[in-house]
Amino acid sequence: MVKNLSFSYSKMGMYKECPQKYKFRYVHMLPEKPKYYFAFGSAMHAVMEFIYNPAKTVFPTLQEALAFFESEWNKTSFEQKGYASVEKELEGYAEGRRILETYYAQNSATFTHPLSVEMKSTLELDGLSLISILDRMDYLGDGQIKILDYKTGKTVQREPDQLYMYQKVVENSPTIKALVQAKDPKVKEVRVGELSFYHLPTMTELKFERAPDKEIFEFWQGVLQIAGNIRAGKFDPTPGENQCRWCDYRNLCPVFTGKEYDGPSGWAARNFKREAAPQTVAVPTEKQPSPEKSEQEQLSDKIDRLGELAEEQQRLEKEIIALFQKNKFERHFGKNFKAELVPAEQITIADTVKTVELLAKLGLLAKVSAPTKTTIARLLTDKTVSAQDKAQLQTLVQVLKTWRLNVEKSE
Ligand code: SF4
Repeated sequence: MVKNLSFSYSKMGMYKECPQKYKFRYVHMLPEKPKYYFAFGSAMHAVMEFIYNPAKTVFPTLQEALAFFESEWNKTSFEQKGYASVEKELEGYAEGRRILETYYAQNSATFTHPLSVEMKSTLELDGLSLISILDRMDYLGDGQIKILDYKTGKTVQREPDQLYMYQKVVENSPTIKALVQAKDPKVKEVRVGELSFYHLPTMTELKFERAPDKEIFEFWQGVLQIAGNIRAGKFDPTPGENQCRWCDYRNLCPVFTGKEYDGPSGWAARNFKREAAPQTVAVPTEKQPSPEKSEQEQLSDKIDRLGELAEEQQRLEKEIIALFQKNKFERHFGKNFKAELVPAEQITIADTVKTVELLAKLGLLAKVSAPTKTTIARLLTDKTVSAQDKAQLQTLVQVLKTWRLNVEKSE
């Protein structure tokens, strides 16, 4: 029996953008670089789920929502989120707080519990395992559902494919039907009553009516056509200025390298670590302690060995960064590991004691929870710190833009 193809709105979008890109992402299983707008969107979605959690009888206060947002935000670094710098990440954090404050001011008096929030649905249909995450569903009565999708990008516009996909899922899902029947046992059939995109940055709601069955039928034929192409291994690249400029796979793409990428794919890619051939490169291993040596001597040996490895690591990193820069690479793959060049900041403080004295003199010590390199450097981009104070700080604190190497096991 042929296994259902795992599919979603975002997978379909990527295939339509460029089948080769889809192949890199979902056949060769190569993850994309983190994108700050996804990280921002996911933190905002998490906090909306926290606010509207149907399992809670009382809605959280603004302060509780802000505290939840802060803890979500701080789970990852600015690099893991995909921001170019700490300053950009702070701007994102401030924007998230602004949105929440405005959202509460405009909506908290009329908060009501939805039917579901952030519901992950998997629908088995026509040979597809269709995965959707429905941000919010409200029950309108009489078997009718309102689907609400939170948007956090710069603008919001009608995305017909997404609306059609939601409608297809909601009206065919046995799980959603069971959810509605638990609330209203008379219901025989679930229908979409309204679809809406809620743009959080501007608090604007765009509402759409249920699409006619004919449009859904044509949309679904298109979905099945794409699924058929994927099954048939049709992944010809469709290069274009916009999609190639921002594509994470440029360094591997046949359009740019002139040759097919022949890395592992599918099951082999997912299990690459287990399946990989035995290491042929000599890997430095820890020397076994000699039984005659005292514990102090063994400790000295270990310290020397660690120092040697650290020196070796530094030397290799320098060489790899130089090669990345020479070849204009952002990412490259070994057999078992991948390396990525990520922007970093090197913060130097000429004299820590003098810096702390200066902070006290300028009345800025209270602004840093602890006077570390990072917290002090943040003052240089803090809008509430005057230009004069920043100029004085810059005589002692310097932030240099640099690069560092991120090395991890290939997935
Ligand atoms: S670089 Fe362009 S053609 Fe190549 S995979 Fe990316 S989007 Fe497709």
